[in-house]
Amino acid sequence: MLPEIIPFRVGYCSAPARLSRRDAGWWPIRFPAGVVLIRHPGLGDILFDTGYGPAFFEATRPIPERFYRWLTPAHLDRDQRLPAQLGRHGAQIRHVVLSHLHADHVAGLFGMDPIPPVLTSRKSWAHLHQGSRLATLKAGCPEGLRRRLQALSPQFFEGFPQVPPPEGGSSLGPFHDISGTGSLLAVALPGHGHGQFGLYLPRTTGGPAFLIADAAWSRQALRDGCPPPDYTLRRLGDAAAYLATFSALADLARNRPDITFWPSHCPEAFA
Ligand SMILES: [Zn+2]
Repeated sequence: MLPEIIPFRVGYCSAPARLSRRDAGWWPIRFPAGVVLIRHPGLGDILFDTGYGPAFFEATRPIPERFYRWLTPAHLDRDQRLPAQLGRHGAQIRHVVLSHLHADHVAGLFGMDPIPPVLTSRKSWAHLHQGSRLATLKAGCPEGLRRRLQALSPQFFEGFPQVPPPEGGSSLGPFHDISGTGSLLAVALPGHGHGQFGLYLPRTTGGPAFLIADAAWSRQALRDGCPPPDYTLRRLGDAAAYLATFSALADLARNRPDITFWPSHCPEAFA
């Protein structure tokens, strides 16, 4: 029995294509908020990120948080809400993995009842506790969501044992085995936000899978080796680190065509 990956989208936002790809035009496109349900034979149902949720719209109601919504208008249909979609899959979520703490990855969590145990990076958690209301907004996590996150007691990827990188992935790492069986490997994907991690699954029913969050905006951009423009990278994190991560992933994609990549906002992946 192998883990199975079930991708779905929990809302979307609209933004100029150019912000995600340096050779694209300025017309607005839709970026799905992609979530992956992992049906793991030993560990049960695990959710990778949570997309949008009512908590996002609450947290971005006041000013200055409302600017977030004005800049990247978000939409969430009722039947796309996380609890409704998990219900349709009959999922019983045992753990939620948060790749990083941007609003469009964490807001859906607060629609879950009860909220399952959460795993994230120690680095992203430390950063969440720093800075003013405005600083946390600029860092992509409005104050209302930050407060709700701070009430949680997550486990940290960095505390799990390190394992060797997968073949072709030696420029990434270290990899941490969060499953105890080598089936779920968390790995830092620095450059986007603070302390972003991805999840590598060496074996699934669909072959090896790499959930790479916002380390690339689309599979096509990885194939073309075309990252976002520097001003996007600087605004959302560390541009040099992002480009190093992006090129390591693009190399891996070239050398390991058997791996399926799952960028969180890729319209092809989350069709
Ligand atoms: Zn992000």
